Amino acid sequence: MRSAADVVIIGGGCMGTSTAYHLSRLGITNVVLIERERQLATGSTRRNAGGVRHQFSTPENIAFSIESIRLMERFEDEVGYPMDFHQDGYLFLLSTPESVSTFKENIALQRRLGVEADLLTPADAARLAPGLNVDGVIAASYCARDGIADPNGLTTGFARAAQAAGVEIERDTEATGITVEANRITAVATTRGTIATPIVVNAAGPHAASVAKLAGVELPVEPLRRHIFIAQPPGSAVAGVDFPATHIMAIDFATSFYFHREGANIFFGMGDPDEVPGFDMTVQWDFLDSVVEVALTRLPVLAEGTVSHAWAGLYAMSPDANAIIGPAGQVDGLYLINGFSGHGFQHAPAVGRHLATLIAGHRSDVDLGSFALDRVSTGETHPEANVV
Ligand SMILES: Cc1cc2nc3c(=O)[nH]c(=O)nc-3n(C[C@H](O)[C@H](O)[C@H](O)COP(=O)(O)OP(=O)(O)OC[C@H]3O[C@@H](n4cnc5c(N)ncnc54)[C@H](O)[C@@H]3O)c2cc1C
Repeated sequence: MRSAADVVIIGGGCMGTSTAYHLSRLGITNVVLIERERQLATGSTRRNAGGVRHQFSTPENIAFSIESIRLMERFEDEVGYPMDFHQDGYLFLLSTPESVSTFKENIALQRRLGVEADLLTPADAARLAPGLNVDGVIAASYCARDGIADPNGLTTGFARAAQAAGVEIERDTEATGITVEANRITAVATTRGTIATPIVVNAAGPHAASVAKLAGVELPVEPLRRHIFIAQPPGSAVAGVDFPATHIMAIDFATSFYFHREGANIFFGMGDPDEVPGFDMTVQWDFLDSVVEVALTRLPVLAEGTVSHAWAGLYAMSPDANAIIGPAGQVDGLYLINGFSGHGFQHAPAVGRHLATLIAGHRSDVDLGSFALDRVSTGETHPEANVV
């Protein structure tokens, strides 16, 4: 392992590897990325639903989506490695007049920024997602270029391209300390030795607060468990009749229940309103009953399905459910790319580039002010409304 680097990145999920790739594209290759697990992408990145959408509520998040989706569409040509991306569309099912009016405003903003999103009738939504029950739905927000992508392909693609450019990736290596002298970072201590460096990127996902603490910085990012289930439909069910034949994602905005097709199976999940912050990733099978209760109202075929797999992963929650991106402020050389709640995977291509641009000493072409850490202490929050 190198004993000195221009940049050390802590965390080998989609954020760390995207930042490494974009640093290398800017010519910064004396970089070491350290990951404490034996493989990359084993944290939240491996456990996520793969959802990718333009349908956000702030101009900055929509800009991240536009850039990220463009890169995902030509990932193999640009990055040099394949990743799966099914652009079969994404539906938000809306069942209150308030949510319809908010999504109308969001769609107007998305369209001003060049995104072809539309408000559909419940009947149109049902036609796009066969098997979907739209009882109680007033309207649906839809964008055809949204979809489902492959977190592992994206992360390993970025990692391999960065390595090919000279970035070192060290697995099985945990950051255990960050040395700060006269308010500046000077080194990272790891389980495999010390790396002298002036710059550290905290890309530790739900563990970001403990990594920031190594440098004496308080970072308000908390882990929050979320479940995912996979069900095999009954033998009599037919894709395209009882459930969609495509990978279209449908989200019931009022309950956060969502599903999409996964191979021959149905992939579904929902947030638990009673969940409290913590690192426990044990599957709470009791919770499945509450999910199924909602699920049956939206995708009746699940009544006869068998749940074959389940897992839980951790959202990294900031106080306003919006990301924290940029310099930490109090300590020179510490950069943050944290707190993405349930939408980090899809923004990783863009935010990795924006952070790399800042580290290279250039101005980012998206105003990152609303993602600054100090918004939390000043109480100036910038919530993202479309958090699932
Ligand atoms: C159930 C679920 C569903 C989701 N669905 C979606 C979705 O549909 N679409 C979407 O865009 N996003 C989704 N997300 C969110 C998305 O997964 C995350 O925002 C994203 O993966 C965060 O990536 P990351 O690289 O920051 O974190 P991670 O992937 O967790 O990577 C952080 C890495 O840091 C390492 N690490 C931590 N501490 C140290 C240390 N001290 N030293 C060395 N390494 C360390 C960890 O081992 C880990 O590998 C979902 C998340 C969950 C849990």
